[in-house]
Amino acid sequence: MIIDCHGHYTTAPAPLGDYRDAQKSALANDASHHGEKGAIKITDDQIRESLENAQLKLQRERGTDVTIFSPRASWMGHHIGNSWTSKYWTEHCNELIYRITRLYPENFVGVCQLPQSPGTDLKSSISELNRCINEFGFVGCNLSLDPSGGFWTSPPLGDRYWYPMYEKMVELDVPAMIHVSEACNPCFHATGSHYLNADTTAFMQLMTSTVTKDFPTIKFIIPHGGGAVPYHWGRFRGLADMMKLPSLDELLMNNVYFDTCVYHQAGIDLLLKVISTKNILFASEMVGAVRGIDSETGHYFDDTRRYVDNAEITDEQRAAIFAGNARKVYSRLKL
Ligand SMILES: [Zn+2]
Repeated sequence: MIIDCHGHYTTAPAPLGDYRDAQKSALANDASHHGEKGAIKITDDQIRESLENAQLKLQRERGTDVTIFSPRASWMGHHIGNSWTSKYWTEHCNELIYRITRLYPENFVGVCQLPQSPGTDLKSSISELNRCINEFGFVGCNLSLDPSGGFWTSPPLGDRYWYPMYEKMVELDVPAMIHVSEACNPCFHATGSHYLNADTTAFMQLMTSTVTKDFPTIKFIIPHGGGAVPYHWGRFRGLADMMKLPSLDELLMNNVYFDTCVYHQAGIDLLLKVISTKNILFASEMVGAVRGIDSETGHYFDDTRRYVDNAEITDEQRAAIFAGNARKVYSRLKL
């Protein structure tokens, strides 16, 4: 069994994008525009077509079994419009994921995006999380630590601002993948710098907080291999020491997990060497940020199964990374 814990619906049929464009046009005339949720017409056949030659084809080719699937991350766009814009958009995106999990219950398990909106509280996000877990059978959420899209206007993850969300996550026993969306600050490339900055920043914010002390059972996945964290593990350990914090193992590593969305063998080897096996979940983020073929290997960059297969670890470790750890972290996962 191989569980890919990080996939997005990057191939959604055109009417989803048309809906978003209409939202943006209405906002261009009136930034406070609320509008109505409305409907998006997408047929089951359109959904099948969008997946058969993309995520499902790659699942089959690469021999992975199930993908923990969420709406397209770069399209979450929490900074666009106001809280109503975000609420309606998010509901539609999550409902589409729910339909996919009904059409392909063997292949996809849902994770929701949240209707975060800069400068607003998390009530609507908590209520959407509740809906997706209890009504749709989803198993987690994607939580952005920077809904401003690259301007970093939200308080850090240790701030009490986030605590109502953490309380709900603990109550429902669901993890959050900490995942930003597109960057509207031209200093950052979305997938090349903003995502990785955010991953690294999330780890440091959690390290300098009391979140894991206040919520001993909370679970976070830091994607994209943990950003710069595994590579700079000595720096983080040294900083923890200088700050008179407990060791990272004690402070964070019962609550924080990294995925394997690292697109070369040496990167995966380093991740597996530095970070305990129990903290690593298999993922590819396909079809996603890097879609091409590596000229050095002749294989897709995001075919991360190959790197884990080729890594010098025991079969027991491989089984934990491929499925065992995901089953523990996503405790609602029923396969
Ligand atoms: Zn992602």
